[in-house]
Amino acid sequence: MIRIDGVLVSPGEGGVYGERMLKGYRVWDPYRSKLAALVHSGKAPDLLFGMVVLYLGAANGTTVSHVADYVDTVYAVEYAPRPMQDLLEVARRRKNVVPIFGDATRPSGYASIVESVDLLYQDVAQPDQVGIFMKNAAFLKESGIAVLMLKARSVDVRRDPAEITRETVAALEAGGFLVGHVCRLDPYHRDHAAIVVTRR
Ligand code: SAM
Repeated sequence: MIRIDGVLVSPGEGGVYGERMLKGYRVWDPYRSKLAALVHSGKAPDLLFGMVVLYLGAANGTTVSHVADYVDTVYAVEYAPRPMQDLLEVARRRKNVVPIFGDATRPSGYASIVESVDLLYQDVAQPDQVGIFMKNAAFLKESGIAVLMLKARSVDVRRDPAEITRETVAALEAGGFLVGHVCRLDPYHRDHAAIVVTRR
């Protein structure tokens, strides 16, 4: 990924959400994007030209737009109508973003559109984040890599986030994944952990 004077950037047309520009590149702010925070930790998978990405929980396309600056195609799934409108605008301006108005708990709804992917990225902040991940893992290539952005408070607000993270890791391992990294995203995003996995 590109850094200019130590600042993470992406190479695309600016003005998507009011992001700063630096020497012609779009500044990718770790306080606004969990994936950018993960890049700062040094544990994020490389985003490479030619990669195909399935992105669950696209919201208004902020992070999606930066990912699209680096890779070949981003299939971006979002189920809330309001952010979907912004995502459609991002897709209008970036020809490699395929916006999908769909529910990540029901991947059969977009299975006919989405191809096999190199990177599965999930940021849905739902109680059953592992269940959603497992359902969508069918799209991941054997050689693929996946990132689950775990918001422990969305799983159970009363329980210890560290315990929920441990349980999530165990569930992913039981589901046939090898957990490469578990990173807290402090100070950029509190109560979030990024779990980076590959297939075993
Ligand atoms: N990834 C975004 C970013 O970095 O810009 C932020 C994502 S926000 C934390 C979570 C998003 O997931 C929300 O927009 C929400 O509507 C969406 N979401 C939650 N459950 C979903 C589901 N089952 N299917 C699709 N989208 C979902």
